[in-house]
Amino acid sequence: MKRNLLLAPGPTPVPEEVLHVLGQPIFHHRTPQYRKIFANVSQRIKDVFLTQNTVYTFTGSGTSCMEAAMINFHNLGDEVLVVDAGKFGERFGDIADAYGLKKTVIKIEYGDAVPPAMIEEALKKNPKIKAVCVELCETSTAVVHDIKAIGAVVAKTDALLVVDAISGLGADRLETDNWNADLVISGSQKALMLPPGLAFLSVSEKARKRMADSNLPKFYLDLKLYDKALKADDSPFTPAITLVVALDKALDIILKEGMENVFARCSSLGDYTRGELKKLGLQVFSNAPSATVSAALVPEGIEGEKLVKVMRDEKGVTLAGGQGHLKGKIVRIAHMGAIRKEHIDEGIAVLKETIEELTVNAK
Ligand SMILES: *Cc1c(COP(=O)(O)O)cnc(C)c1O
Repeated sequence: MKRNLLLAPGPTPVPEEVLHVLGQPIFHHRTPQYRKIFANVSQRIKDVFLTQNTVYTFTGSGTSCMEAAMINFHNLGDEVLVVDAGKFGERFGDIADAYGLKKTVIKIEYGDAVPPAMIEEALKKNPKIKAVCVELCETSTAVVHDIKAIGAVVAKTDALLVVDAISGLGADRLETDNWNADLVISGSQKALMLPPGLAFLSVSEKARKRMADSNLPKFYLDLKLYDKALKADDSPFTPAITLVVALDKALDIILKEGMENVFARCSSLGDYTRGELKKLGLQVFSNAPSATVSAALVPEGIEGEKLVKVMRDEKGVTLAGGQGHLKGKIVRIAHMGAIRKEHIDEGIAVLKETIEELTVNAK
């Protein structure tokens, strides 16, 4: 079989046992059989979030829950603070614009994490700010933000802390309850080792108080509908049944390993990956390295886009390139989910070989 090694930060490889479940016949969702599974995953996924709060499951990509987090807890004209340290931080700002929220943007140099003191200052300056939106792992720059410190700052105010943990959940440590993260967003296709299609949102009590009054337009993502359905272990609309069943299996794997072990494994595989990148003579990008994904600058004289394309199309190894102004300038390698040392070794070997080939060709 032709090699197909996925080392991009999503979608990530799906384990055999989960693939097997994905190939099973479909069944109806308004049944005791489905409700039982959905009740089970809705309960157990809390252990991945490290929360006692309700975690809602949506059929949609991760961005659907970024949107749900913005529109279910705000009113037209509310002010939000957005940390823009990369492409995904920027997306929070775009959603705010789409719904008529007023945004204040803390623009951070790509590769840096936001200093929590900057958030504290912004909240002091403008007490009307209703939410602070930030990534756990800013996947586009391979940076992890200090959610624990940010949570301590935001908890002292009336603002909600909204954490996009779409890539980071289940890789970079996030203690939702202990760290006062009010709304935590995730998606199925990254560290949770599933195909794309499910999105998750955990909601704190502080956030829940805002739900009833929120007057922004919404229908498919109206959390009140999900809340009502969830009381009967149900979804308001047809759920991605197959993915929910597969999630049950993925949670078996994750929770059997245990969150502490998962965090430790991803963190040490991240250290290992960056060590291997340095051995190739590459400069690691990101001043706050993440356990989810690492990045390195593409060597001088090589086109980054071409490097990624050749590796993917000719050698069957998918890395990610850069986004925004980092396009063509960095490569990103994920070390979350089902990715193990042998996959990193194979990816690094192919990276080395491809860099050498492109260097010779450039001469
Ligand atoms: C992948 C990712 C997203 C986008 O998720 P989709 O599933 O493509 O909608 C948003 N934020 C972060 C941090 C991500 O890594």
